[in-house]
Amino acid sequence: MKEKEYERVMELESRKLAQEHNRQIIIQTQKEVEKNNDSIAELINNKLHEHNIKSFDIVGAIGAGKTAILEKITDILARKYKILVICGDITTRVDADRIQKKNVDTIQINTGRECALNAYYILKIVKNIDLNKYNLIFIENVGNLICPAEFQLGMDKRVTIVSTAEGEWVVEKHPLLFRMSEIAIINKIDLKERLGTDLDKMINDAKNINPNIKVILTSAKNNEGIEEIIKELNL
Ligand code: MG
Repeated sequence: MKEKEYERVMELESRKLAQEHNRQIIIQTQKEVEKNNDSIAELINNKLHEHNIKSFDIVGAIGAGKTAILEKITDILARKYKILVICGDITTRVDADRIQKKNVDTIQINTGRECALNAYYILKIVKNIDLNKYNLIFIENVGNLICPAEFQLGMDKRVTIVSTAEGEWVVEKHPLLFRMSEIAIINKIDLKERLGTDLDKMINDAKNINPNIKVILTSAKNNEGIEEIIKELNL
């Protein structure tokens, strides 16, 4: 499907302009878009592997600590890898500016009304950069736990980050995302007592939804669990 048509469908959906007689065709188109997204994601992954680039996609709500954790791990990994971090947000380049201070290259994508990155955005970047310059790519998705679940970005592994500040039901309420993730990070464990969050429930929910998921407990603030993330990513 042409990109223009895709953007139009998303526009209709996001504005809820779809009229009854258009609904079926829109649902059909949406399905094709997702199928098409997955084939583009596969193409991206193959291209990155051709260049021996390892890649990870970070998903989480606003304030969960995606950028903070990326700052911590890139600070360590920049000594060993040539890193590119792609940040998605509806507007601003706050995150890219923060991570860039860690001596890694960054690209900020502003999605406008879109609540998630998709493989089309990433393909545009992959086509326009010199892939020989990098051997490690991270993507920080737009901050939310819903829309990113459906769109694979062609990365090797997906890491989902939640925090104790989001409450113990946050994992249970987003099963699709945890099913599609290889690693779940529960951040801000330093706040667990003060907030009274049931951390065990969060861990158990993640494992019930996805028995293969690896759960890592972190406090980006106190540098807890950072080395474990690096180890788990095989970096
Ligand atoms: Mg961020």
